[in-house]
Amino acid sequence: MTGSDQECIFCRIVRGEIPSERVYENELVLAFRDIEPAAPTHVLIIPKEHIASVSHLVEDDKALAGELLLAAGLVALQEGLLENGYRVATNTGEWGGQSVDHLHLHLLGGRQLGTLG
Ligand code: 5GP
Ligand code: ZN
Repeated sequence: MTGSDQECIFCRIVRGEIPSERVYENELVLAFRDIEPAAPTHVLIIPKEHIASVSHLVEDDKALAGELLLAAGLVALQEGLLENGYRVATNTGEWGGQSVDHLHLHLLGGRQLGTLG
């Protein structure tokens, strides 16, 4: 385990050291409610393994990257978002607005969302 994994908030959530409201998980990914929801449904979907961002995905992560998107779709179904629609987004780096350096998809829904940017 690297130093960043020890300190990383989301790695600590995966290990159960920080409580979270889990809504879905499998061997590779975990989905839990955002602590400061920006919409009625705001769930974060993360790899259980520490990967810093989309920019840090490598060829060997192909299956994992697919699992993240599939999990987003499953949670959207679970949350009743299919009829009206929802957004899946990932912030990357400083200008992208990333504040936690562990790859995460935001699943947002439950109200009409504004335009991106
Ligand atoms: P980012 O700004 O990196 O795209 O998204 C990070 C998200 O993580 C934010 O929406 C923030 O509210 C959420 N977050 C930060 N710390 C915690 C935490 O300890 N628990 C949960 N559930 N969400 C967190
Ligand atoms: Zn991490």
